[in-house]
Amino acid sequence: MEKHLKHPVFKVLADIASHNNIEAYVIGGYVRDIFLHRPSKDIDIVVLGNGIEFAELAGKQLKTKVAVFKNFGTAMLKYQDLELEFVGARKESYRADSRKPIVENGSIEDDQLRRDFTINALAISLNKANYGALVDPFDGVADLQQQLIKTPLNPEITFSDDPLRMMRAIRFASQLNFNIDEAALAAITKQKDRVAILSKERITDELNKIILSPVPSIGFKYLFDTGLLKLIFPAMANLYGVEIINGKGHKDNFYHTLQVLDNISLNTNDLWLRWAAILHDIAKPATKRFEEGHGWTFHGHEDKGARMVPQIFAQLKLPLNEKMKYVQKLVQLHLRPIVLAQEVVTDSAVRRLLFDAGDDIESLMLLCNADVTTKNEYKVKKYRNNFELVKQKLKDVEERDKVRNWQPPISGNDIMMMFGLAAGKEVGLLKNAIREAILEGEITNSYEEAVQFMLKKAKEYGLSPVQKSI
Ligand code: ATP
Repeated sequence: MEKHLKHPVFKVLADIASHNNIEAYVIGGYVRDIFLHRPSKDIDIVVLGNGIEFAELAGKQLKTKVAVFKNFGTAMLKYQDLELEFVGARKESYRADSRKPIVENGSIEDDQLRRDFTINALAISLNKANYGALVDPFDGVADLQQQLIKTPLNPEITFSDDPLRMMRAIRFASQLNFNIDEAALAAITKQKDRVAILSKERITDELNKIILSPVPSIGFKYLFDTGLLKLIFPAMANLYGVEIINGKGHKDNFYHTLQVLDNISLNTNDLWLRWAAILHDIAKPATKRFEEGHGWTFHGHEDKGARMVPQIFAQLKLPLNEKMKYVQKLVQLHLRPIVLAQEVVTDSAVRRLLFDAGDDIESLMLLCNADVTTKNEYKVKKYRNNFELVKQKLKDVEERDKVRNWQPPISGNDIMMMFGLAAGKEVGLLKNAIREAILEGEITNSYEEAVQFMLKKAKEYGLSPVQKSI
């Protein structure tokens, strides 16, 4: 493994270890990532002794500041583009009610034993006697080759000690496209209720990493099959299942949603657009009806879904800011381009869509494309062709009418001044009428035509202007 320790920093650490007669090892993700050919900048160093003291010696040699975290017994320093974290080798034992272990000094093997997975327990020696040797007591390399997530200890103990590891197991499986070892999977299923002792933030942090993995459905299927999803995100688990009445079924919205999520993940790494894919049909269970002579309907699921977004974000401790609003908007609008793609595409429908979606129109089009999951080749072709038509029309209409990020040419204030009105119902009515007329194409998007139109409308409402112009 010596060839993987080319960076001069490793020699510096090895010299400190040798001069001070302390054993030191590179451990964890950095070593795993060598085997996965994923170059990493985060290096964890474990020493048989005091990790903080060792870090301070390293800081002196490398002429860089050391950040000490006394409570955790760890220290961190930055050197060039690397981030090095130091810790003393530990032996850990746990109580049932907490993720916080009782810690004592331990051997390198004790330290490897406390690691979550065999692939994360690999170490490389920085010691003179065997510099560069791989220390792999639990066959982590074999598990890397077999693409297996497996625990060094009995999995029931590993997951019960720290239930976050259940989320981490599924996250690594999803990120790396690995399988979870059978015994480990059975242990997660058995211990799932222990997620209750985790903070929502930690769970959501792992969930977001699953969502950002190349094929997120891998992680979600594990979450669902182990029963974790029902505990951490019940609204999504509720999408599962098919009901049949009079021989008519509907599609399974859970697997449909996963397909949409995988589809969109081919085209975007944006976490929030991926969240929009997860939530686009979230209100289908709540709006599901069987209508005689018609079949299954989900009327209004886009409105109800949009209303559910803030609650779901709050429950998962996701940010209640413009990201949430973006997801909400996409959920609300997700049917619009599909409806357009099914019908004759009129200019006014496209103008309306542009007006409502504004700058998020590209995201919305990506979501709608991802939403086409039918197996019917004919339908797929038809939708995709129509989408291209919609896209072309969007471009034409935007070039001509500039309705994206558009403000109507007459503001509420203008209307109040012109008619001597206080803020109230009439102002809203007039404003809406002008906007509708422009979106419908009755008048052009110009100040002059808008004023003429407004005067005519105002007359119908019995209003007359108190000044001629604004
Ligand atoms: P990534 O950077 O992709 O998240 P990583 O493996 O480096 O991967 P970290 O969370 O930085 O992840 O953890 C560093 C190492 O610490 C891991 O490789 C593992 O050995 C150990 N580790 C982290 N969290 C736990 C845990 N909850 N239980 C046991 N060992 C853990």
